[in-house]
Amino acid sequence: MAAAPPDDLLLRLRRFRSDYFPLHQQRFQDLVTDGQHPKTLFIGCSDSRLVPYLLTGAGPGELFIVRNVGAFVPPYDGSHGLHGTMAAIEFAVLSLHVERIIVCGHSHCGAIRTAYEGAPEEAVALKQWLKLASEALLPVQPSPEALCRTEQRAVVLQLERLMDYPMVRREVEAGALTLHGWHYVIEEGEIHVFDALHGGFVPASIASTSGTGPYQPYVEHDGQILVD
Ligand SMILES: [Zn+2]
Repeated sequence: MAAAPPDDLLLRLRRFRSDYFPLHQQRFQDLVTDGQHPKTLFIGCSDSRLVPYLLTGAGPGELFIVRNVGAFVPPYDGSHGLHGTMAAIEFAVLSLHVERIIVCGHSHCGAIRTAYEGAPEEAVALKQWLKLASEALLPVQPSPEALCRTEQRAVVLQLERLMDYPMVRREVEAGALTLHGWHYVIEEGEIHVFDALHGGFVPASIASTSGTGPYQPYVEHDGQILVD
């Protein structure tokens, strides 16, 4: 009996090693020898259409990523539960000393829509999880405009929650960490960045920064401050 042909996923794994890896082998070796030193924690929705590396032009070693349904940040409530997103934030800030945290929501977000419409009865964890968006919901029918606004409000809500993490607040207040709220509009190929100074989202194509956060401006290593 002939062996079954390799499945598509197996072919992709082989292609990574034969086509991509040889071109970037030294970079991977350096990242192993020197360890990873990513400057950015990227908290993104799990949605398959959100591709952080494409959006930011980042390569291996540049983004420390945690993704979940909705790009939500659990409240720092002292419950010390088994929470992956919370653990990732602590690791990124306390061990990796990242300089930026991005919270990235997006258009047509199933998490936000489901927060309005309700999750399947069996999805007990999802129902609980989506409560993290409840403060962002609007008391209206979820029209496309309302959903978009809610997606953006949810991003800002997560930034506010991040500031309740003691290690985040400490680093932000020390000027060592900036927070960035992004709303990715899939069909436009445009990230809208949260501008806390003006209280709204601005398309990256005309924005002056990648998001100011309501906090300290990001200072480059040469001392240049990127925001007035
Ligand atoms: Zn989503």
